[in-house]
Amino acid sequence: MSQPAVYRRILLKLSGEALMGAGTDGIDPDVLDRYARDIRDLLALGVQVALVIGGGNLFRGAGLAARGMDRVTGDHMGMLATLMNALAMQDALARLDVAARVLSALPVAQVCESYDRRRALRHLEKGRVVICAAGTGNPFFTTDSAASLRAIEIGADVLIKATKVDGIYSADPLRDPTAIRYSRISYDQVLREALQVMDTTAIVLCRDHQMPLRVMNINEPGALLRLVRGEDIGSLVVS
Ligand code: UDP
Repeated sequence: MSQPAVYRRILLKLSGEALMGAGTDGIDPDVLDRYARDIRDLLALGVQVALVIGGGNLFRGAGLAARGMDRVTGDHMGMLATLMNALAMQDALARLDVAARVLSALPVAQVCESYDRRRALRHLEKGRVVICAAGTGNPFFTTDSAASLRAIEIGADVLIKATKVDGIYSADPLRDPTAIRYSRISYDQVLREALQVMDTTAIVLCRDHQMPLRVMNINEPGALLRLVRGEDIGSLVVS
C-alpha cells in the first residue's frame, strides 16, 4: 500500500518565475501541466491543497516603479499578474479533471470568486484546490507574505515554498562552492543571516504564528509527493 500523507492541509507557494520554465517570461504550458499533475497526486493522497501564485514572470511593482511608474499602480499590475497565473493554473487543473477555484484578494466578479476565508475552507473541505490570487490585495506586499498569511488563516499544517533550489543554503550555491544546505534552521537564524528564503514580513509572520516552512525544489520529479509523505526534503524552518 502506498505511504499515506503526513499533512492534512498544505499551502504551496509557487513563484511566477516557476511558471516560466526555461523561458524568460510568460507561462510555459508544459511546466504548468507538470505542476498540475503533481497537485493531482497530492489530492489523491487525501491532502487539501491551497496555492498562492506569484506574478514575477509578468509584472512586479518594484520593477515597474524603477522605470518611472507610480509604485502603487505597479503593485496593482503585479497583483493582476498573479491573477492571470492563477487562472492559467485553474485551467491546467481543470484539463486534468481536478476541481479548483481561484479566490482573488481583489474582487473581479466576472472572472473568479473573491477571497473569503470561510469560502476557502469550504472549497478545501470539498477536495477542491484553492488558488489564492492577487496576493494580500494590498500594495507594498509580496506573494510570499500572502502565502504566510493565507497558510496561517486557513490553518495549513505546513507552508511549502517551491523554488528552483533544493533548500536553504548558507550562501548562493551557484556562486559559492563552500555553501552548505541547512536541513533544519530557525526563523531567527534566517532573519539574522538575511538568508534568501522569503521576505522578512513573510518569515516574521510564520515565526510569530509557528507556521512550519519547507523550502524545496519543485523541479525535482516526485519531490513534492515524497515531502507530503513525510520525507525530510529540502529545508525546514521552525522555531
Ligand atoms: N503584489 C502586491 N501585493 C501583494 C502581493 C503582490 O502588491 O500582496 C504585487 C507586487 O508588485 C509584486 C507582484 O505583485 O511584485 C508579484 O508578486 P511577487 O513579486 O511576490 O511574485 P513572485 O516573485 O512570487 O513571482
